[in-house]
Amino acid sequence: MKESDFNLDFQNLNIESKIVVSLERIAQAFRVLLWQESKDFSLSPIMIQILIFLQNHHLKKRKVSYLADEFNMTKATISDSVRVLVQKELVRKEFDSTDNRSQILHLTAKGMEVAAKTSLFSQDIRKPIEQMNDTEKELLLLKLLDIISFLNKTGIITLQRMCLSCRYHQYKSDSKSHFCNLLMEKLEVADLRIDCPEHEEVAI
Ligand code: SF4
Repeated sequence: MKESDFNLDFQNLNIESKIVVSLERIAQAFRVLLWQESKDFSLSPIMIQILIFLQNHHLKKRKVSYLADEFNMTKATISDSVRVLVQKELVRKEFDSTDNRSQILHLTAKGMEVAAKTSLFSQDIRKPIEQMNDTEKELLLLKLLDIISFLNKTGIITLQRMCLSCRYHQYKSDSKSHFCNLLMEKLEVADLRIDCPEHEEVAI
């Protein structure tokens, strides 16, 4: 039988378990910080996440169905949150001119203001990362991308827009370098994107 990473006798003898539990603590920090913001604005954490997403993504991604995939939630749950955001005049809906069965979500001026303030919620998590040197940051980024990529391939995280899952990404093993066949540029580790507007999923 497999041991749990949360079993302290096992965990204390296994660095893998300590890393897993550390990631869980960081996820908890995100939840705490997001919850703090949501209390300040009388919104739920997912409503804050929707506002920040709408602030930073293109029209074609600003739909209930896309948001449901993005946040691994049902369309009904996202629709409920969007309804409240519309009632609070933070979001407005508009029919998609290319498909009148679907609606595009836009931030209102008030919504933009709330998104601008709440999107700073991760600043405290950023601080210790800023203290690292460039090599440490690159190593951390690569390892995190590997973990996210694995979780994506196993279907745990459904939607990704990062270089490692993009059809334009090429890894050149001879030079151990990354290349973008859309931008036609070599990508240094620091250039690898986690959320790229041009991302296209690798065809399976
Ligand atoms: S299009 Fe974007 S995600 Fe794809 S490889 Fe190029 S930079 Fe990366």
